[in-house]
Amino acid sequence: MSHVLVIGAGGVGSVAVHKMAMLGERFTKITLASRRLSSCEAIQKAVAERLGREIHIAQVDADNVMETTALIEKTQPDLVVNLALPYQDLAIMDACLATGVHYLDTANYEPRDEAKFEYHWQWAYQDRFAEKGLMALLGSGFDPGVTNVFTAYIQKHLVSDMKTLDILDCNGGDHGQAFATNFNPEINIREITAPARHWAKGAWVESPALAHKQAYAFPEVGERNMYLMYHEELESLSKHYPEIERARFWMTFGEAYLTHLEVLQNVGMTAIEPVLFEGKEIVPLQFLKAVLPDPGDLGKTTSGKTCIGNIVSGQHEGAERTVYLYNNCDHEACFAEVGSQAVSYTTGVPAMIGAALMLDGTWMQPGVFNLEQLDPDPFMAMLTQHGLPWQHVELDAPLSF
Ligand code: NDP
Repeated sequence: MSHVLVIGAGGVGSVAVHKMAMLGERFTKITLASRRLSSCEAIQKAVAERLGREIHIAQVDADNVMETTALIEKTQPDLVVNLALPYQDLAIMDACLATGVHYLDTANYEPRDEAKFEYHWQWAYQDRFAEKGLMALLGSGFDPGVTNVFTAYIQKHLVSDMKTLDILDCNGGDHGQAFATNFNPEINIREITAPARHWAKGAWVESPALAHKQAYAFPEVGERNMYLMYHEELESLSKHYPEIERARFWMTFGEAYLTHLEVLQNVGMTAIEPVLFEGKEIVPLQFLKAVLPDPGDLGKTTSGKTCIGNIVSGQHEGAERTVYLYNNCDHEACFAEVGSQAVSYTTGVPAMIGAALMLDGTWMQPGVFNLEQLDPDPFMAMLTQHGLPWQHVELDAPLSF
């Protein structure tokens, strides 16, 4: 018997709840709570129609620790899966500590007024979780998440002495809209407009946002331009694998997307500092989110595939080796299965897998963990079983750029 409380009824929450509902023997009771009950009702209805399974729903403002604490006390879950926004991470962790319940999320805590993408706030909960015998699993999405597990798997089985790591995130999908983001627009645009940073010989090297462009031919997608970015898993991976000399993260963007973004940035629409509008303070980026397409609605019109994976070079059993471990995910197949596009799918499935491995005891241990600190093998097996099969190929040489 295990009861999971999912907080956040958005694109990722919908996929995670669908996938949990498909695994009735592991997730015997599911409660979905969100800021608006209507968001929960829509997912409750979809799960009942598609899978014939009843889930429970509740309203909560997860910024409010007391409210979340009261909800946890009332519903008595074994685990809280936080699929709301990064702003709520610490408040939900506090509520878990107050009630003695395990915690999982898919994105690092973010202060509202500054784009940081850093783990230190959450790592600081290590002693408090460990002392209470509770586990917090951080970043169980695709990137971060699967890319951390891929790194651990490569180190364990394919390249034991890793020297370089490149994480390549390609969305080869087309949603037919002039401009839309594939997950929460506010978080997505904060991430892309922040300066790029990569790890090189024990230090961070910073460069302007979107300044390094590189063409790459992605399996099952074809050639796309990818850009050097900072991404939060670089912080935990460079900490847990100090032997890695260079770690970088790349993401693909089309020309039209970047042109729209540049214009929006130039006119101040991506700013996160509040401005006064008709006597009321508004945050331009939050207003922009309100007028952009809802990522949860993009599934209907999106075709094509994603390709996300890791290229690692180093030594294995006395020889130089470079491997590329990746997953392809088809937007239309995801929509047919759970009514969402692949970006929500590739995040919601790993959230379900992390939750399952905590609840069945495979990964459960007291403290705060990033995914690469745990045995990758059971997670990798579940990826294949639950819709995200992976493969690896040998590359002739390390990346030349
Ligand atoms: P959405 O914006 O679609 O969904 C977020 C949901 O959180 C909304 O339904 C919203 O509620 C709810 N929410 C917001 N604030 C609160 C609050 N104060 N209390 C309760 N609920 C709240 O985002 P996504 O589903 O795209 O993303 C969810 C999370 O996943 C984000 O943290 C994102 O950064 C992360 N992510 C991680 C990825 C990875 O690979 N690791 C990739 C993509 C996303 P309501 O509808 O009720 O108003």
